[in-house]
Amino acid sequence: MEKILVGLKRVVDFNVRVRVKTDGSGVETDGVKMSINPFDEIALEEALRIKERGEASEVIVVSIGPAEVQQQLRTGLAMGADRAILIETEKPVDPLGVARIFKSIIDQEGADLVLLGKQAIDDDNNQTGQMLAAIWGRPQATSASKFALNGDTASVTREVDAGLETIEIDLPAVITVDLRLNEPRYVKLPDIMKAKKKPLEQFSIDDLGVERGPEVRAVTFEPPAERERGIMVDDVAGLVAALKDKGLL
Ligand code: AMP
Repeated sequence: MEKILVGLKRVVDFNVRVRVKTDGSGVETDGVKMSINPFDEIALEEALRIKERGEASEVIVVSIGPAEVQQQLRTGLAMGADRAILIETEKPVDPLGVARIFKSIIDQEGADLVLLGKQAIDDDNNQTGQMLAAIWGRPQATSASKFALNGDTASVTREVDAGLETIEIDLPAVITVDLRLNEPRYVKLPDIMKAKKKPLEQFSIDDLGVERGPEVRAVTFEPPAERERGIMVDDVAGLVAALKDKGLL
């Protein structure tokens, strides 16, 4: 296959304890470590392995977000992607808008495979891949924990509620990846230097002529209620008494 497109979303690093802004307008990102969405790193790792096996010729990383998203794209290039496309926008874009942007890039570039994360850990939407497959009119396999390419098809093992399910899909297609697919590689210093010279193209949403569509407007953000401290009981009788006390038995 020729090209694999990989979506990289910039999110608050998964090790950071997320804090809600005091005015409730969103989540604090000032001075907070930002990273590639962990599922997207797995998607890129898989794309790179496919290329290294000689089954693809080019891996392109794509990100939609503010100018700072360049940092995550450069990390993607240092991991081994061939080039990067940044769609710069200060306003967050909903999954439908992101799916439309990917479709527009597919129309310009062509793509044999689009690899995305199963979800972005900031909004936990789990929608973009599904919407893109629908708009593109191509098959999808979500939450992949294993897959193999066989020419014009892919055999994908998916993590579903009941366990594992293996399906066969025609390519080109969208595959969204789950945690157990692989362990992403670490970036080495020489690769970071090399990545600085790799091409990073930049467009605006208007350049692509993409409609953002109806937007989900977040009215207010609130931190979850503090958890009450637990109590220690000495024995089962104590547990039963404590549960009765709370009206749970
Ligand atoms: P979501 O539907 O928002 O949970 O996102 C699912 C996947 O779509 C993510 O793991 C990314 O691969 C891709 N994606 C979503 N938003 C963006 C974005 N702003 N830039 C690049 N990729 C994105």
